Amino acid sequence: MSKKSGNGTLTINNAGTILEADESISGLLGYTGAQLVGSALTSHLTDTCRKPFEHELARIVTGEIQTLHLNTLHAKSFVLPLELTLVQKTEDHFQFDVFDLSRRSDLESELDQVRDHYMLLSESTTDVILQIDNHFNIVYVNSAVTSVLGVKPERLLHESLEIIFPKSQYSRYRERIYKYFVIDDIHRSTKGLGNVIEALARKAGGELIPVEISMGNSRGIGDDRILTCIIRDISLRKKADRRLRYLAFHDKLTSLGNRDRFAESLTRVLNEMTPESGKSAALLYLDLDGFKKINDSLGHEIGDAILKACAKRLGNCLRDGDQVYRFDFEEIFRVGGDEFTILLPYISNPEDASIVAKRVIDTLTQPFSVEGWESIKNIRLGVSIGIALIPRDGRDRTALLRNADAAMYRAKERGNSYEFFTEEMNDMAMERLLMEEGIRQALSWNQFELYYQPVVDANGKICSVEALIRWNHPKHGILPPDRFIPLAEDMDLMKPLGTWVLSAACRELHAFQSRGYPELVMCVNIAPSQLEQRDLCETIGNILARHNINPRHLRLEITESSIMENPERSRQRIDLIKSMHEGITVAIDDFGTGYSSLAYLTRYAVDYLKIDKSFVMQMHKSENSKVVKTIIDLGFSLGLEIVAEGVETAEQFAELRRYGCHYFQGYYKAMPLSSSAFDKLLERDAREQVQSS
Ligand code: C2E
Ligand code: MG
Ligand code: MG
Repeated sequence: MSKKSGNGTLTINNAGTILEADESISGLLGYTGAQLVGSALTSHLTDTCRKPFEHELARIVTGEIQTLHLNTLHAKSFVLPLELTLVQKTEDHFQFDVFDLSRRSDLESELDQVRDHYMLLSESTTDVILQIDNHFNIVYVNSAVTSVLGVKPERLLHESLEIIFPKSQYSRYRERIYKYFVIDDIHRSTKGLGNVIEALARKAGGELIPVEISMGNSRGIGDDRILTCIIRDISLRKKADRRLRYLAFHDKLTSLGNRDRFAESLTRVLNEMTPESGKSAALLYLDLDGFKKINDSLGHEIGDAILKACAKRLGNCLRDGDQVYRFDFEEIFRVGGDEFTILLPYISNPEDASIVAKRVIDTLTQPFSVEGWESIKNIRLGVSIGIALIPRDGRDRTALLRNADAAMYRAKERGNSYEFFTEEMNDMAMERLLMEEGIRQALSWNQFELYYQPVVDANGKICSVEALIRWNHPKHGILPPDRFIPLAEDMDLMKPLGTWVLSAACRELHAFQSRGYPELVMCVNIAPSQLEQRDLCETIGNILARHNINPRHLRLEITESSIMENPERSRQRIDLIKSMHEGITVAIDDFGTGYSSLAYLTRYAVDYLKIDKSFVMQMHKSENSKVVKTIIDLGFSLGLEIVAEGVETAEQFAELRRYGCHYFQGYYKAMPLSSSAFDKLLERDAREQVQSS
């Protein structure tokens, strides 16, 4: 802005009295025109300026000079330097153009411009810009406050900052904000202050919203300071954060908390379990029985639907029912494929946990039907639950999980039941650990052995023999396969072990055959993981060749459930083995315990069906007897040879024979025997056969 534009006109007479003063002059000096006119110009000058002025006025009169420099006094008593230039001169009055040498008005209008500019900025942001003085009174707030907090700016001006916060939180916020008055941004980090704080703000209607407050540096002199705060509504960001957190901590399929969420919740519960608190809690570890089979045989889609249904049932069974046991849905977690945990954060005694466990078993064992799959009805699942009490059974996550897991294993042995953890289970888990260590060395230390159990025809003549593995354990003595085969499977040792069995059985068969039983057939059990083995067919070929065995003297026993673990691959493997080793036979073992139908299994190139011993041993019950008869009849019509396992008594033998069963295996004829004992049995059997013929 140029100097000229600050002009005003002032007319005085030769005595120095003001005759005329336009509005600019009166504005400049802070008086009204009426106040100025008639007053002596000297009365508006500083003391030191008065004398020189009188002198200079005389020189103006004489025309010696045209310009005056005056230090005038503003109405508010500050000094304002002016330059007066003569523009008109008559005999007794002089008219001057007046220039404000302080450029005060220029600065004021510049200031106005800057203010406008900042206003514009301040009004175009969606964040609230607010200034408070050091008494925490609001001295400025922009209009964004209306949309953020639902209140007009005028309503807030001069109010205490408290007005925009919940009462219960304000003193805490005030304390924090106060620090920003005294500590500038350069020193904040060293004092542990961030440039923003998060807080809850209160809207006009009382609703609370999360906000982020950024603090500027306070400005001012001494105690009179102003702090500028920018307040941003972060509800949306918080919502997005919550969504992200939800996704990170929840299982997509069932919407239950996931493993991480479980760890977090368990830690929280543990932290609350101080010895003084006297509180106790319980951890229930659930494992579904039979889920894998359903998933493998009916497909993942149905498996998923069932898991979802389980989650829903779990939620319902914890929430409704008697009022006493109402737990938060969030306390149920899916921690693995078919594994769930339930955290009961407060229980008054262990009985509480068992009530929940019973209810869970009751609910989950009800048959499932899957929506959209009307043809698949009444699917049944089992569930085993291990319970660890907190803090009794552990004060840290690892111990609690390990103990609940050990209890779950024990529950699994009984099926559809729950067990509380006991110290003795730790011993079992320890034993399992020791067994795991031992099993690795057992192969190289030749601790495995095969026992042989004969299979006889309707006349009692030995036709084949099943090789059954034993572990001659240095400490525990002779261990049956169910003590170590599941372990070996878990530890991925079943393939080498299975190959060893095949090889040892064929070597022994060769010996039996060469001792005068050339038609004897050796039955060898094949584990699920062996069936997965790509080179199983080749391995069998090598072993047969090495021991000079004709494939028709080898029979592979594959359990029904292991076929169902991967039906298509099992079919391919069986087909390949049978086409590569002509004459080899395949038996379905433990038939009746899986979920398959016999008609389905005949799509596999199998020759023998072994009825599971659980049916045979219970044949005195008429429903079991009927099942056995039905299996035999169906087997016949499908052209299969039928073997009954677990034949223990003469009655069972006779009844099975009456039904037309072809072959018999069980204690009635002989227990599994060592190689030499079996050799003797063969001899005796041959003698008896000769005698009876
Ligand atoms: P499996 O193949 O069904 O074998 C028959 C099981 O029934 C054997 O148990 C046998 O001792 C038992 N048994 C035979 N007759 C009777 C009887 O009259 N009454 C009763 N109560 N039981 C009888 P074992 O030897 O304990 O084997 C259990 C299972 O372990 C076998 O069932 C088989 O599935 C598996 N197994 C055994 N040896 C091997 C092996 O070398 N490899 C694989 N993969 N599995 C094996
Ligand atoms: Mg078998
Ligand atoms: Mg069997």
